[in-house]
Amino acid sequence: MSYKNYPMVSRVVFGRGSFNQLGDIIAPKRLNIKAPFIFLVDDVFKGNPLITSRLSLAYEDQLIYVSSKEEPKTSQVDELVEQIILNHKDRPSGIIGIGGGTVMDLAKAVAIMITNEGEAKDYQGWDLVKNPAIYHVGVPTISGTGAEVSRTTILTGPERKLGINSDFTPFDQVILDPELTAGVQKDQWFYTGMDCFVHCIESLNGTFLNAFSQSYGEKALELCKEIFLSDTLSVEESQDKLMMASWHGGMSIAYSQVGVAHAMSYGLGYLLGIKHGVGNCIVFEHLEEYYPEGVAMYKAMKEKHNITIPQGICAHLGDDEFDTMIDVALSLTPLWENAIGKNWEQVITRDTLRALYQKM
Ligand code: NAD
Ligand code: ZN
Repeated sequence: MSYKNYPMVSRVVFGRGSFNQLGDIIAPKRLNIKAPFIFLVDDVFKGNPLITSRLSLAYEDQLIYVSSKEEPKTSQVDELVEQIILNHKDRPSGIIGIGGGTVMDLAKAVAIMITNEGEAKDYQGWDLVKNPAIYHVGVPTISGTGAEVSRTTILTGPERKLGINSDFTPFDQVILDPELTAGVQKDQWFYTGMDCFVHCIESLNGTFLNAFSQSYGEKALELCKEIFLSDTLSVEESQDKLMMASWHGGMSIAYSQVGVAHAMSYGLGYLLGIKHGVGNCIVFEHLEEYYPEGVAMYKAMKEKHNITIPQGICAHLGDDEFDTMIDVALSLTPLWENAIGKNWEQVITRDTLRALYQKM
């Protein structure tokens, strides 16, 4: 047996207002005045002084707004890389991703594809990246995915929805400034927050669990309970704690794996374009059989915050469409092995998944 040698984010700043330090932090990383920093920023911040007026662009630095309406695609990564290469003579000094999981994943993928030949789809999988990425920085503006700590960047490609999992994927620098999450809409706050909660439940109830994952998972779960079930936190405390829950939840799955909700949510994402956070919620409600305590807690959280989850999204699907989702879900072997065990194929059949999808 060989143990994972897990790469971590090299540097991290935490604190309200710490985003002001971005300029000072990246300045020494500038290779020369022709090698720009490229800022990928969620377009929800267009014209919002919280972000834009605090970015100090110099020389040939470029700000590119990206939409997070849809989850990132490999073709979108390729287009961004082409745009950056065509616009600048020199290879960039770094990529700074400012946004949620969508923008952070794009930033990681772009940083990798600047130094690796071919197309992003060629690197979907495990350890296919050959050359180190350029310097890349993540600045989350919504908390829950753990994308700020993870070794992957989830992309939808022409054939599959799968991450670029590599030692070169994690950020070189992360800035955790909970103030940046102030404008998140309530439903979205819940969906992305539940991504973290589900990471904890799937990690803590999986067969891959070990003391490393457990220590992070338990802390993240405790934070989630405080944030989503207690009435004692101020808004600021709640923002601070959710940012750290996301980090710990990400660290927990880094050394274990996710489970049933994620496997099935990938199916919804691939076929219907349902986003990761809300997709996990849509699935998780129906998983009492696999995660009884977690589902009960989830329902209490949903009720407390009066959140509505889309229903009936599979009502009009045909056999082929169910088959596509089932194929995507079943292809994620490590997730099932973690959730169920080595004998998972005897437990999880196509009919099991079909019956679950039909409820959604
Ligand atoms: P997101 O990045 O898709 O953003 C969700 C919505 O919130 C968007 O409309 C965005 O504009 C808005 N938003 C973000 N910050 C805001 C702010 N401060 N104020 C107002 N609105 C704001 O959401 P997410 O849930 O963070 O990310 C989902 C993506 O993350 C998916 O693509 C998923 O595949 C990926 N993901 C990656 C990992 C990983 O380890 N790499 C893990 C989990 C999920
Ligand atoms: Zn997730």
